[in-house]
Amino acid sequence: MISQISYLETPVLELFSPELDKAAIRLLVKREDLNHPHVSGNKWWKLSPSLDEAIRLGHEVILTFGGAYSNHIHATAAASRAAGIRSIGIIRGERVTPLNPTLSFAEECGMELHFVTRAAYSLKNTAPFFNNLKERFGDFYLIPEGGTNELAVQSVAAFGLKLMNEVEFDVACLPVGTGGTLAGLIRAFQDEREVMGFSTLKGADFLGQEVDRLLAGKICNRWSIEVAYHFGGYGKTTQELRDFILNQKLHHNLPLDPVYTGKMMFGIWDLIRKEIFPRGTTLLAIHTGGLQGGPSAK
Ligand SMILES: *Cc1c(COP(=O)(O)O)cnc(C)c1O
Repeated sequence: MISQISYLETPVLELFSPELDKAAIRLLVKREDLNHPHVSGNKWWKLSPSLDEAIRLGHEVILTFGGAYSNHIHATAAASRAAGIRSIGIIRGERVTPLNPTLSFAEECGMELHFVTRAAYSLKNTAPFFNNLKERFGDFYLIPEGGTNELAVQSVAAFGLKLMNEVEFDVACLPVGTGGTLAGLIRAFQDEREVMGFSTLKGADFLGQEVDRLLAGKICNRWSIEVAYHFGGYGKTTQELRDFILNQKLHHNLPLDPVYTGKMMFGIWDLIRKEIFPRGTTLLAIHTGGLQGGPSAK
């Protein structure tokens, strides 16, 4: 892949445990979190084509949206810096100083942060809001909240094809936010592999429809979204989840974040214990990143 933003090849690791032996399951982890120090995991795949496209079209500014802890804001700021293009982040809520690590990192990358009320933010996809942004900031290339657009889905599909060539597996597992990454993998696998998404949102009933929309009429059947592992909803966590994450680090040297990959891995182990997967299945968990501060973060 040729992009303004550098890409590091990433390893596939195998986890070992008596539980896996007992269930006759192989559990592999694609450490895609290691693909870039700051634009890591699925964010590299989702953002790099939009940045390349913005530059190709002659835009000088990237504009996007996100919450104050958003991996997408963190990654877009870093990606824009790497690609040498100005970036503007429209952030939900009030500016709280000192800025949290996500937002101070974004500012260090040169992203201009503009805070809008929650009420205003909820209108961000409407024409008046958009026209207002144009008036205020002039020309920009817009990347939607979460970074899911057609370019992102295509790009994740390219990652999916790469995975199929690199690794033998039966079921790929990944955490789901907007569904863009899930849709890209489904598009790549065309039912030759199964895909299982783990929703990090509570009340994610709309997600299936959203994925169908992103698949743009392509009919695929071998995919599903697990909705039982949101731990109270997006950005919410519990002691049980925190303990689990520490435990994975301790026993498998696997760093996980509490928003996305921790919930997915918890779900995978739980489903293995519940004997959902036939004996002999090879699972491939995709580490989609989210360890802000880079792969060295605990
Ligand atoms: C953004 C993000 C996701 C969600 O990706 P979607 O394409 O929005 O579903 C999953 N994992 C991590 C670590 C992320 O940062």
